This record gives sequence, structure tokens and C-alpha cells, in this order.
Amino acid sequence: MRLSRSFLPTLKENPAEAQIVSHRLMLRAGLIRQTASGIYAWLPAGLKVLRNISQIVREEQDRVDAQEVLMPTLQSADLWRRSGRYDAYGPEMLRIQDRHKRELLYGPTNEEMVTDLFGQTVKSYKDLPQVLYHIQWKFRDEMRPRFGVMRGREFLMKDAYSFDVDYASAVATYRRMMLAYLRTFQRLGVRAVPMRADTGPIGGELSHEFLILAPTGESGVFYDAALEDQDWLDEPVDTNNPDALEAFFTRVTTPYAATDEMHDTVAWDAVPDEQKREGRGVEVGHIFYFGTKYTQSMGVSVSGADGGQFFPEMGSYGIGVSRLAGAIIEACHDENGIIWPDSVAPFRAAILNLKSGDAVCDEMCEQIYAKAPEDFLYDDRPERAGVKFADADLMGHPWQIVVGPRSAKEGRVELKRRATGERQELSVDEALALVLAG
Ligand code: ATP
Ligand code: MG
Repeated sequence: MRLSRSFLPTLKENPAEAQIVSHRLMLRAGLIRQTASGIYAWLPAGLKVLRNISQIVREEQDRVDAQEVLMPTLQSADLWRRSGRYDAYGPEMLRIQDRHKRELLYGPTNEEMVTDLFGQTVKSYKDLPQVLYHIQWKFRDEMRPRFGVMRGREFLMKDAYSFDVDYASAVATYRRMMLAYLRTFQRLGVRAVPMRADTGPIGGELSHEFLILAPTGESGVFYDAALEDQDWLDEPVDTNNPDALEAFFTRVTTPYAATDEMHDTVAWDAVPDEQKREGRGVEVGHIFYFGTKYTQSMGVSVSGADGGQFFPEMGSYGIGVSRLAGAIIEACHDENGIIWPDSVAPFRAAILNLKSGDAVCDEMCEQIYAKAPEDFLYDDRPERAGVKFADADLMGHPWQIVVGPRSAKEGRVELKRRATGERQELSVDEALALVLAG
């Protein structure tokens, strides 16, 4: 894409309404614009980020055999009356009436809808387990929308729902999902810590939140340093083998991790001092096993091996896709701007023409641009070099290919890695080979 013709409106000044760094940088780098309180439009670069995140989430869901569907944003109030949640949900739910005065709502989550879909289709234990997910916009009329897309009112969520024959099978599904989550966050280039979450009044439930470690996170986090090493996630786990799943689960959940509110001093004291870490975190995912709560209340049963009917065991598994765009920036930035992980970056590299109008520079840039894949951004604007450097750092491209008049004459460019600041002078082909390799 040529920057001179693109819709990538960067801002020099810090927008007054943005309190935290990711919100400031998302506005300044031209990723989003607010259209109403807690509601955002995603501009071309922001949309690429959202798509890159969604695609990684999708691939890791598919890898543990979850199946993608797309449920609508609008739901009927009657569906929610069946589970008893229509009245219970409170003012976060946006309630709507159509022209026939039928009551609808903009979905804040999809347990009811997916349970109904499942019930219409699956009639026998032989068809279990089933895991369905979608990546869809949600609406929650948050009391205080803030921090840009981190706490919006309309936001993009991946939500998955599982149906199993019994508790043991539901726990295996839950553990597979935890593995999928850790792989997802690792591929997104951030460190996420799974933490046992409050499961509410009903015993026997299982729930974990995933927090990305970032100094500006909303929750205080105490954890064992062992959790920082997640390279072993690259090793294969036999997800059809319950013992292998249990070994994996024990490994990621044993080192004690907790938030401020749940700080259990006994477990914390057991962690060796040199292993203790305190930090802050942003919640980007939440997984939940809740048994037969919805199948029972909505009367969705299937036939069992003994010929009788039973209520399948369920879990739900959320990832805040749009919140992740902000959370990744919270974890990956410096004073000059965003430092996108390669897997999420809207553009892999920017070509910076330091002297637009100079025949040698122009020709070399055009030559690189012609060879480049689609995710290269060519800064061909008639701007000063300083402006181009500043914008490239702000937008956070993993690589900058800098073309200046002196080196261009010798057929060379300067290649800068945004994350480390490392620069090297190379031929065009050498630079392209490095960028395309990593
Ligand atoms: P929070 O405590 O932050 O309000 P939640 O517990 O209400 O989150 P869940 O219902 O578990 O959230 O939703 C799953 C995921 O959706 C969360 O982990 C978070 O990443 C994301 N999410 C929830 N609410 C919002 C919001 N208002 N804006 C953006 N993302 C959100
Ligand atoms: Mg909430």
C-alpha cells in the first residue's frame, strides 16, 4: 500500500480523551476512531490487526476440533426467558423492540442461543462431544466504557461452547481449550498467565482467566516465574489422551498465580522467593465449566447409552478479540509508539523513501515495492525524513527498509528492526530476504 493514497491518519498530538497508552497509540497510529461512547470504527490498519488476531484465534480453535459457526448479534428475548436470564441480566443488556413490538436484544453472550441450536440438532450421546464457536460482535452497555477498545460497549469476542456426555469428558474438553488458549496467546506474541477464577456459589465448577502481563493492566498479579517460560508449548500434546492432558494442565496451573483479590498467602509463601513475581495484567480470556446449568434450565436433553435422557455438560470459553488489540499494545510499545509482534502487525515492513523526488531514491523504492508482498507499506509522501521515521515507529511495523540518497547510489538500504532498534546496511535482495524470512 502506498501511504500517500491510504487511509492511515496518524496524529502528532496525544488525544486528550485517551487515558492509557494503548488508547492513545491506537488513535495516533490511525487504527480506530470513536463513533459513539464505547463504540469504534476500525480503520484499514486497525482492521488488519483485528483480522490477524481473529485468524490466529480461529486456527487454534480449529486445531482442538472446535467448529466455527456464525450466530447473529440480535437475539429474541424469549430465548433468554427460557433460561431465566432475561430479567436477571440487568442494564448491561441492550433491549430492542421491532416494528411488531417483539422484544429483541443485542447479544452480550450466546449460551442460550447455542444451547437452543444444539438442542434442535443433536439428539444422541453418540454425537457428543461438540464444540461450537464464533467470532462475533457483542454489546454490553457498560456503566463506564473506557480505555478505548479495552472496555468498549460494542466489542468483538470469540466465544466457544462445549457439550459433553459427562464430567470427565467435559474436563478433558476444558483442558484442551486451555491448551488452545495458551498456544493462541503465544502466537500473538504476548505472555498470558492462566489464573484460577472465582466460580461463584455453585461448587464443582471450574474457571480460569487469562491475563496478559503489562505494567498498565487493571489487575494486580502474583505469579511464579516458572509461568514465564512457555517455550515448551511448542511440544506436541496428545489431546486425545486424558493423562497427557492432565499432565499439561497440572504444569500450567500448579505454579501459583492469583490476582489481588484472591491472593492466597499460604500458596504464595510456598513459592521460593527468587521465583516470586508481581506484576499487572489485562484479562483477555475467560474459560468456564458450568455443567448442566443451561441444558437443564432450557430443557435440552439427549438420549444416553442406557436409552434414558440426560442433560449434556457444558462449558463456555471467551477471548476478547478487540480488547486484545489494545492489550497487545499495552504489552508491546515504547516511548515512540507501537512495537507489533510479527504475527499481528498490519504491515510487515515499511519502505521509507527519505528523499521523495530524488530519481535514485524513487527508483530504488519502486523496485523494492514491486517485489514486495501485499503487507508492505511504502511511505512515498513528500514529507521530511524525520516525519517518516516518527510515523514508522508510531505505527510499529516490525521492519523498516530505509532508502536514503547516499546509500541508494551504492545500491544499498538500511534495515531497521523495530523491536530491538538494530540497524544494518544491506543490498535490496539481502534486506528483502531477511524481512520475508522472519
Ligand atoms: P470484565 O471483567 O473485564 O468485564 P467479563 O468477565 O465481563 O470481563 P467475559 O464475560 O468473561 O468478560 O467475556 C470474555 C472476554 O471478553 C473477556 O475476557 C474480555 O477479554 C472480553 N470483554 C468482556 N467485556 C468487554 C468489554 N466491555 N470490552 C472489550 N472486551 C470485553
Ligand atoms: Mg464484564
